[in-house]
Amino acid sequence: MANTYIGRLCWAHMLTYILVLVGALNWGLVGVGWFVDTNLNIVNLLFGSWPTVEYLIYAIVWLSAVFMLFQGSCNQCAEKKM
Ligand SMILES: [Zn+2]
Repeated sequence: MANTYIGRLCWAHMLTYILVLVGALNWGLVGVGWFVDTNLNIVNLLFGSWPTVEYLIYAIVWLSAVFMLFQGSCNQCAEKKM
């Protein structure tokens, strides 16, 4: 289950995991939204009025994904795997 997986992560990896998940979910909604001709981009709907914030979130999600790719787990995560 996702909850138990998250529970094994340290705060840094938990944060990046959640951000990547948010990015993936939002990206999926962008795709689904195109088919139903509706803007389902939650990040855009919430922060569209502040483009700087909106694109900052995209950039943070990207940074989290890169972080996950190169540093998917650490010693702290491993310790919690017990
Ligand atoms: Zn970690």
